Amino acid sequence: MSGKVPEINLVFDEPVQRKKAPKHLADFAPADRKAFAQEHGFQPFRASQVANHYFSHLSNNPEEWTDVPAAERQAIADALTPKMIELVTTRTTDNGMTRKDLWKLHDGVLVESVLMRYTDRVTVCISSQAGCGMNCPFCATGQAGLTRNLSAAEITDQIVAAARACAMGELPGGPTRLSNIVFMGMGEPLANYNAVVRTLRNITDPNPDGLGISARSVTVSTVGLVNGIEKLTEEGISCTLAVSLHTPDDELRDTLVPINNRFNIREVLAAADAYEKRTGRRYSIEYALIRDINDQSWRSDLLGRLLKNRNAHVNLIPLNPTPGSKWTASRREDEAEFVRILESYGVPVTVRDTRGREIDGACGQLAAAEKGKPVA
Ligand code: SAH
Repeated sequence: MSGKVPEINLVFDEPVQRKKAPKHLADFAPADRKAFAQEHGFQPFRASQVANHYFSHLSNNPEEWTDVPAAERQAIADALTPKMIELVTTRTTDNGMTRKDLWKLHDGVLVESVLMRYTDRVTVCISSQAGCGMNCPFCATGQAGLTRNLSAAEITDQIVAAARACAMGELPGGPTRLSNIVFMGMGEPLANYNAVVRTLRNITDPNPDGLGISARSVTVSTVGLVNGIEKLTEEGISCTLAVSLHTPDDELRDTLVPINNRFNIREVLAAADAYEKRTGRRYSIEYALIRDINDQSWRSDLLGRLLKNRNAHVNLIPLNPTPGSKWTASRREDEAEFVRILESYGVPVTVRDTRGREIDGACGQLAAAEKGKPVA
């Protein structure tokens, strides 16, 4: 494996074996972890000890697990917390405050996560699938198609690795806590529903069952799979929902976000409204501004009218052009006008900071991070 981070995210560096990912404690609900330990021939209470090391202490070094007999430590660690992701390369920018990690999964599939330190928070952007099946034409991941879903532990381990990097002081500024998680890396989270919901619980369950991070600090970004949004509404997890709208009219959205042919704008917004009603969480509308494609003032006007009575705010993302794409980011003045019109409707708007472009966040999504504080 060369040290170079591939341009396209979806790559194999060895033939893909279609073997399932090994099972890990993080794949199971806390109530089922004891049985998992027993299946491996260990006493049930080992499960909660190991969960405590993994989620509370972020420890991947069984030598430190002094409540477990020394002779058994490695075997227990290998069985209950097998290595899910292996670091291939890391690239940094912004004086080390932005870091992109490339991970290899058990079958050679590669995925990325991006860790970003701000003055008031640290955010990790994680992948929920290897590739993506949603086929949005402006998105690099979408172009490569879907390779496979990640398991809950493969997703969770990206977060635990980020939390560990923060705690170990790997980012400039000294040890800190991971505060925010965004599902804005590779993949469509709601198309890998069960693994993503297990991950959400691993994030939000208090120690030692989970990381104990507030659901308010977690954002799930979706193309708008209405059935997925409806199911998530019933879960009782109050994370922030972000809907990748990208245009207020179905005609253009049918091409920019092809799943719109199945779930149109009216249906997607109705599902987001129901989510907002149930959780009390204002939702985000993501809108990649593409020059002369979706940045006209009439579209801003239409978007303003669509959102003015909704509890939503708009994140404008300057398009990060994918290699070979004919599309590019909007002119500054068009972006400013777009913002002005939305604000005239009283719709809250932020323009995203696009950290990490110079380290090949070429897909745009991995590097995208909201500038303002996440909605509380
Ligand atoms: N599948 C989820 C998560 C994708 S990534 C979703 O679609 O919401 C998060 C955001 O980055 C999405 O809004 C996505 O549309 C956006 N994005 C993808 N490619 C981009 C690019 N080249 N430039 C700017 N934003 C992009």
